[in-house]
Amino acid sequence: MSGFFDLPKKENINRIKGKPASCASCGLYLHAKSPRMEPFGNFKKGILNIGEAPGEIEDSRGKHWQGRAGRLLQKTYKKFGIDVFEDCLNINAVNCRPMDTAGDNREPTPHEIACCRSRVWQIIEEKKPKIIIALGSMGITSLLGHRWKKNLGGITKWRGWRIPDRDMKGWLCPTFHPSYINRLQTDEVNTIWKQDLSAAFSMLKEPYPIQEDDTKCVHILDSPEVLPPFPNLVAFDYETTGLKPQAKGHRIVCASVAYNVNASYVFMMPSSPRKRKKFLDMLKDSHIRKMAHNIKFEESWSFIRGRAHIHSWDWDSMLAAHILDNRPGITSLKFQTYVNQGVVDYDSAISSYLKGTEQKNANSHNRIFELLEKPGGKKKLLLYCALDSLYTYRLAMQQKKEMRY
Ligand code: URA
Repeated sequence: MSGFFDLPKKENINRIKGKPASCASCGLYLHAKSPRMEPFGNFKKGILNIGEAPGEIEDSRGKHWQGRAGRLLQKTYKKFGIDVFEDCLNINAVNCRPMDTAGDNREPTPHEIACCRSRVWQIIEEKKPKIIIALGSMGITSLLGHRWKKNLGGITKWRGWRIPDRDMKGWLCPTFHPSYINRLQTDEVNTIWKQDLSAAFSMLKEPYPIQEDDTKCVHILDSPEVLPPFPNLVAFDYETTGLKPQAKGHRIVCASVAYNVNASYVFMMPSSPRKRKKFLDMLKDSHIRKMAHNIKFEESWSFIRGRAHIHSWDWDSMLAAHILDNRPGITSLKFQTYVNQGVVDYDSAISSYLKGTEQKNANSHNRIFELLEKPGGKKKLLLYCALDSLYTYRLAMQQKKEMRY
C-alpha cells in the first residue's frame, strides 16, 4: 500500500518546521577553520560514530575526537578492542564548529542539525554501517528528528537500545556523549555507558535481520464471520471512537486479531450481534489465550460495548515493557515497535484522527469517522489496526523470550 510506509522524502530530510535548510541558511561554515569536516576513519569494523559537533581543537586540527571527550572515547573503545579511527568512521550531527559570541564551543541548534542532516544520511546510505553509535542527544535529533513525529525526549530514554532500524538497515545504538561522562564523573553513569557500548559492539556478530514488508501480513476481511479457525494464542486490538467506552455514543469501529508473528486479520466491527458472534465468542473462550498492549483498554471496551467478558488473558505487552525497563516514556506500542522491530512512525498517516477533539475531555470523540470519509481512509485505518495487533504479538514473543516465560 503506497503512501503508508513511505520514507521521508529527500527534500524533507533537512526541513525543520517547514523551513528549508542548507549550508547557506546555517552559516556555520563561514566561521569554521575546517568547514564541512569530512568523515574520518578506516571503518574496518563497519561502525559509524555520530558525535555532536567539532569543538575548537577538532576545528583547528581538521580531525574528529581530538579533545578531552575524544581521548575518553578512544580509551574506552580500546577496552573493547575497538580503535576509534581504524575500526570506525566518525562524523558529527553538525560538521562545522558551532561557536558562541565569546568564541567558545556551544551546542548546535535544531536548525543547524537539520541543515547537516542530509549529509549524515548520505553517509549512512553510501557506507552502510553495521552499527551506528549515536553519542548524545544531538545524534538522536539528527537521525530521528525528521522521522519521529512524537516528542523525541532526551538521550536517557534512547540510550541502551539496539534498534534494527529499517531505514538505515543497520543497528542504531544510542548512548551518552563522552563529554557527559567526563562532566558527571560518577561510577554509575560510567558503568551504564560501558554497558551500552559493550551491548552495541556485541551487535557486530548479529546479522541485521531481514525485514519483510509487514503489510503483506495483513488480511482485510469483509466480516468477522469469515475469520479462519482461531489458534490457541492471539493478540488483538480495537480502534474506537474515543478513550472511554462508558461515554455516550462511543463504539468499537474496527478490530484486528493476530494469529502469529506473520498474520493479522482485520475487519470493521459490525453492528449486528449475529455478525459479531464469532469474534466475541473467541474472547469468551478460555481455551484461546489473549494478548494486548494495555489490556485494560481492550477489557473495558469488550465488556461495555460488546458485552463480552474476556477469558484467559495471557500477556500485556505494555505492562511487560515497564517490568523489563522502568524508564518513563517508553511503554507505548509505537516506541516499543521502533526500538524492538525498527519500524518508525507507522501511525502518522492516521494518528491525528485518533486524538480526542477536546484535549481536556477524556470522554470526547475522536475524528475516526472523518478519516473513514477520506479516499483510502478506511484502508489506512484497517491496516493500522492490523499492524497494531501484529506488532503486539511480535513484541510479546520477544518479551517472553527475554523474561524466560
Ligand atoms: N565532540 C564531538 O561530538 N565530536 C567530535 O568530533 C569531537 C568532540
